Amino acid sequence: AVEAVRPGGSGRRLVVDAAGARPYDAVVLAMDVGGLRGVVSRSPHLGDAAWRTRVARLRNAPPFLVSRLWLDRPVAPGRPGFLGTSGYGALDNVSVLSHWEGEAARWAARTGGCVVELHAYAVPSTAVREVEEKRLVEALHRVYPETRRARVVAARHEWRADCPLFTVGGYRDRPTVRTPDPAVVVAGDLVRTDLPVALMERAATSGFLAAGALLERWGVRGETLWTVPDRGRSAPLRALARRFGAY
Ligand SMILES: Cc1cc2nc3c(=O)[nH]c(=O)nc-3n(C[C@H](O)[C@H](O)[C@H](O)COP(=O)(O)OP(=O)(O)OC[C@H]3O[C@@H](n4cnc5c(N)ncnc54)[C@H](O)[C@@H]3O)c2cc1C
Repeated sequence: AVEAVRPGGSGRRLVVDAAGARPYDAVVLAMDVGGLRGVVSRSPHLGDAAWRTRVARLRNAPPFLVSRLWLDRPVAPGRPGFLGTSGYGALDNVSVLSHWEGEAARWAARTGGCVVELHAYAVPSTAVREVEEKRLVEALHRVYPETRRARVVAARHEWRADCPLFTVGGYRDRPTVRTPDPAVVVAGDLVRTDLPVALMERAATSGFLAAGALLERWGVRGETLWTVPDRGRSAPLRALARRFGAY
């Protein structure tokens, strides 16, 4: 893991990890919130005070739980590959992985079972993990009642807390791709891009933007990015919407 980024000789940046310090012409900081905050806090010369404060203010969202279950029988015919849920406690969605993921599909074909995955986002950090894991499986039983009779051949419950938290009103404060140092850029879901993208799409988009920002320094044009329109196409309608507060 990268520990710090330090100024090097000849305008280069030294990237420090357990193996030592290596010089680079440019650096893309593409880490989750905890990683970025850690590297910035250990790199006193990175950016300026205002930028460092903004990075230090970034927070992770509450923990999430991903439960993958290998069941000894299939779900009912016609169950979708992915189902968003609401009103089932912490359960946010159910995926039947064996409908669309190669390894799971092969396991299901071999055994006659199925593989399902349950997601619960933003679980209170005070929650008792074993209790939440049990509740999630109970919620599956209500969503797909045929799973009540299924034997759980194997189960894996993964808890993580590395999604960025986007606070109400916090948009302007988020780091952008560019930093005060033209040789250092930031990419990832936590970055503000001003384009209507989020999650993996924002991570990938900000990666292209970061590469483009660095290539400018060598007079090279990066990838052209296409986006859906980020405002209404008709100027009079936009003016009307502004006037009457439609958005
Ligand atoms: C359960 C779940 C389901 C999701 N489903 C979807 C979905 O359906 N569609 C979608 O678009 N998105 C989905 N997402 C969101 C998506 O996974 C993220 O938006 C995306 O992974 C963000 O990419 P990233 O590169 O910003 O960060 P990450 O994927 O978190 O990558 C950051 C990387 O930086 C590494 N790192 C941290 N510190 C250091 C360091 N000091 N040195 C070196 N490396 C470091 C970390 O190990 C990590 O690998 C889901 C997320 C979760 C948790």
